[in-house]
Amino acid sequence: MTRLILATRNAGKITELRAILAEAGLPHELVGADDFPEIPDVKETGVTFAENALLKAHALARATGLPAVADDSGLCVDVLGGAPGIFSARWAGRHGDDKANLDLLLAQLGDIDAPHRGAHFACAAALALPDGTERVVEGRLTGTLRHTPAGTNGFGYDPILQPEGDTRTCAELTPAEKNAISHRGQAFRALVPAVRELLG
Ligand code: IMP
Repeated sequence: MTRLILATRNAGKITELRAILAEAGLPHELVGADDFPEIPDVKETGVTFAENALLKAHALARATGLPAVADDSGLCVDVLGGAPGIFSARWAGRHGDDKANLDLLLAQLGDIDAPHRGAHFACAAALALPDGTERVVEGRLTGTLRHTPAGTNGFGYDPILQPEGDTRTCAELTPAEKNAISHRGQAFRALVPAVRELLG
């Protein structure tokens, strides 16, 4: 069975991609980067989600000799010209401070009314082989930004993004409901044909 490695230490992402591969009838065994603790994290020096996903996938494929999948994602706000975008995880300065990032974004958008609060989560998913072959695809979850956070599920900007066609925020959806519509789920599902094409 072909082994495939996912560039993440997040168990939730591994479970999600494993389920998507199984649903598509792909027999590949998926392992996480934690199975290779000696491999250092890659610097995300790209300026797009796709570039960063490809950087991570290539680095991992080179280091392990296995086909590698990586994703990169963030929140893109229309009125901010797509920001925070690739800076989503460190918008307030410190990487991964979800509350500070969300509070800063809400303050920046304080005077902006509902019709102009469009935004989307974006995710690029990349597949790279040790020989340098690559594929990259993208997924989106579109919605509007609330003025105040609601819900306790999820992470990051989930409490303020209300998906199109729903009255709840992403943080009020169950994990299964979120996975079914999420940018990451869509990107991983869009990667299935590339896995089938390159790995059989
Ligand atoms: P990463 O690509 O998983 O590292 O995510 C980058 C950042 O984008 C996160 O730290 C969050 O701030 C934001 N983000 C990405 N996906 C989501 C999501 O599904 N919900 C909420 N925030 C997200």
